[in-house]
Amino acid sequence: MIGIICAMKEELEEILIFTKDKTEETYGNFKFVKGNIFGTKCVLCLCGVGKVNAAICTQSLIIKYNPDFIINVGVAGGIAPSVKIGDIAVASGVIQHDYDISSFQNRKKGEIPGIDLVEIKTTKWITDKIIVCSSSISPVNTHTGIILSGDQFICSPQKLTELRNEFGGIACEMEAGSIGQVCYINKKEFGIIRSISDHADNSSNIDFDKFIKTSSRNAATILSNFIKSYQD
Ligand code: SAH
Repeated sequence: MIGIICAMKEELEEILIFTKDKTEETYGNFKFVKGNIFGTKCVLCLCGVGKVNAAICTQSLIIKYNPDFIINVGVAGGIAPSVKIGDIAVASGVIQHDYDISSFQNRKKGEIPGIDLVEIKTTKWITDKIIVCSSSISPVNTHTGIILSGDQFICSPQKLTELRNEFGGIACEMEAGSIGQVCYINKKEFGIIRSISDHADNSSNIDFDKFIKTSSRNAATILSNFIKSYQD
């Protein structure tokens, strides 16, 4: 069974369109939809926006359903200059850009004490398969790299430049880093598919509202291709 997590209903709705035999269950604070996507059993859930919501949901999903692996699907702001609205960002790793205990000399910005990592790498076979599935769809541009998460909607060129200089990264959003941390701690394989809804600049709130639907659809399309190819 594949676990699929989205933060917002607009993102989930695009996946529910091609999910068959749906049944709903409530566990803890979350509603889970079990169903099948092109013959593969999946469990889908809406985690809500931000790292805490995403972490609670991911842990609940693992405890209740123990999926084989988890895919987080949704939209994100573009960080790298070449990353444009509608493009696909596939995470090779995730960083929580707002995690900062670097006032302690031995700690780097973004480093998570306990696991002592800044970047949590996504699972290679999942990431490679997503890249192949995404690259096969023209005219979608696919970017692979680090996705930066924090409990902030990035809407300023200054912050964007700061993130780019500090961590690099292709895109920013608000959940993948914590989903990655929960998966890492639980030794659960995971991958991240994001489609760009905005450029994380002055107009990112306007662009976000304008492109949330089409970008959510783009991300859902890549997921559907991934699941189709997963069966082969
Ligand atoms: N409109 C929503 C809030 C959306 S927050 C409300 O009012 O409730 C933005 C969501 O999209 C988050 O889930 C985040 O993961 C993603 N996202 C897209 N662009 C982003 C950006 N520029 N900065 C941070 N997160 C972004």
